[in-house]
Amino acid sequence: MCGIVGYAGIRDVVPILLEGLQRLEYRGYDSAGIAVQDHGAIHVVRSAGKIERLQDKLAGVRLPGQIGIGHTRWATHGKPTELNAHPHSDCGGNFVVIHNGIIENYSLIKRGLQERGHRFKSETDTEVIAHLLEENWDGDLVSTVRSAVSLLAGTFGLAILSAFAPETIALARRGSPLLLGIGKNEMFAASDVSAIRRHTNQVIYLEDEDLAIITPSSYEISSLQGTPVRRDQQTVEWEIASAEKQGFSHFMLKEIFEQPEAVINAMRGRVLDQDGTARLGGLDTVRDQLRATDHLIIVSCGTSYYAGLIGRYIIESHTDIAVEVELASEFRYRNLNLKQGTVVLAISQSGETADTLAAVREAKRKGVAVLGLVNAVGSTIARETVAGIYNHAGPEIGVASTKAFVSQLTILYLLALLLGRERNLSISEGKQFIAALQSIPGKISQILAESDAIRDIAERYAVFENFMFIGRKYNFPIALEGALKLKEISYLHSEGYAAGEMKHGPIALIHPQFPTVCIAPQGESYDKIISNLQEIKARSGPVLAIATHGDQEIARLADDVIYIPDIEERYSPFLTVIPLQLLAYHIANFNGREIDEPRNLAKSVTVE
Ligand code: GLU
Repeated sequence: MCGIVGYAGIRDVVPILLEGLQRLEYRGYDSAGIAVQDHGAIHVVRSAGKIERLQDKLAGVRLPGQIGIGHTRWATHGKPTELNAHPHSDCGGNFVVIHNGIIENYSLIKRGLQERGHRFKSETDTEVIAHLLEENWDGDLVSTVRSAVSLLAGTFGLAILSAFAPETIALARRGSPLLLGIGKNEMFAASDVSAIRRHTNQVIYLEDEDLAIITPSSYEISSLQGTPVRRDQQTVEWEIASAEKQGFSHFMLKEIFEQPEAVINAMRGRVLDQDGTARLGGLDTVRDQLRATDHLIIVSCGTSYYAGLIGRYIIESHTDIAVEVELASEFRYRNLNLKQGTVVLAISQSGETADTLAAVREAKRKGVAVLGLVNAVGSTIARETVAGIYNHAGPEIGVASTKAFVSQLTILYLLALLLGRERNLSISEGKQFIAALQSIPGKISQILAESDAIRDIAERYAVFENFMFIGRKYNFPIALEGALKLKEISYLHSEGYAAGEMKHGPIALIHPQFPTVCIAPQGESYDKIISNLQEIKARSGPVLAIATHGDQEIARLADDVIYIPDIEERYSPFLTVIPLQLLAYHIANFNGREIDEPRNLAKSVTVE
């Protein structure tokens, strides 16, 4: 989950590393550090806390050198102190390592190394790698890395400097993302394109078991086992401006406001108006399997899991396919006897989510077709799935996912349309479906125009410490997502429930200081949710309702109402989620929280 950046070239390396780290900070931000190579000597500077602290520490320090590596950490082993911050070095200071991932057998290795006289300076799992490099040094960096890494169990993305190889950075990957960036007389390395996009749009994504060596003018990739490998160079399509705040106070707010565009981008070129259907080119190779299947399993985590839950309702109501939605982290514990025709769809914004990737691999082992719905082009899940669809939502930097969610919804709806049209859905129903989807960006914009009014409501609710979110059917997952958004960035206790479940337990929590956000757009489930709302009011619980424009009845019952434009219930999640994102954002802001970098969280969860 951490960020890695590396540079070998002709420019001063420190500003390049610091800028790269700043762009990666959303991936981990409890401590940071850099190592710079200068004529064989390696200088390391580290600091606890955010990149700014590292920057302060480096201000006024002259650290010449044109080769270096940097790391922003999301601690797994050992507190986020300066001593535990990366880079880590061996006893002799000749090997310097930064690492993303977890070395599962580190304590055994550490004990052995200590017995053989190595002195450890940190509590991290990572430090063993530096000492293993020292112990296995055979005069050649590549073969030394191979020997050291062959002793490791677990996951790693590694960048290594050695005093014995002054012009070189060694990179190795097993389970954690790493890529090379190719410039003119300079080479970059990073865990995420955004770190280096300012300098180049030419990248090579490393794959698991790859070992790469970069120098200012060259790169060489082989496998950790010693065979040469070829990886294609790719062009990054998005511009650096899309990874900047552009006047918004936070990435999250900017991304909330990008949602009309995210829906449009997800639909671009994917709608066949005349035929009332969708065209998802990335699935062409599995068209026959999709036509024949009656069983779809969606695997995902967090917000993507909630998108999957809504996907279940929309796919099941337009096809004869039975859809299961499984938390990726739990998928492996089920002893599923997958039939030959079953299709698995993995959803992950980053395409690197460790649990989702593990589920993908498990499903592949069982021999079924595994598809991906991924935002990050070239990511591991995109590569390891047999076919898939890209979101084209642009980089999502805010840790709390927003635009990726509506983008995932859009594609799941297009998938429902495609699967439906290949079954019993008529052309006119398909055309209505498309017209409804096309109306969504404009309707989201109408809600966004009410952001200030939503902020005023949020100010009143920011004083509470506990929240309940309830919804039914399509809006049950939205209740879960609304509660997740709030807890992620405000640290307030919030629970999402299917409204029908209230009376089976959670209603016991209701009292005048425990508000409920009641998602109640017009539709089939409206009357029932109004009854739930009444039950809450009867117990003096404050209620904030999300309702359809013109609903007078709810205005009489609820304490506050945020209105969304009129839309058929099945499309309402695209709209009901928007005020909940804004509510979470503004409540967190009133509470002075670090919205883009919430406590204990990080974007792109690459550990299991
Ligand atoms: N496991 C390592 C540590 O705790 C790496 C964590 C990371 O990926 O940032 O230092």
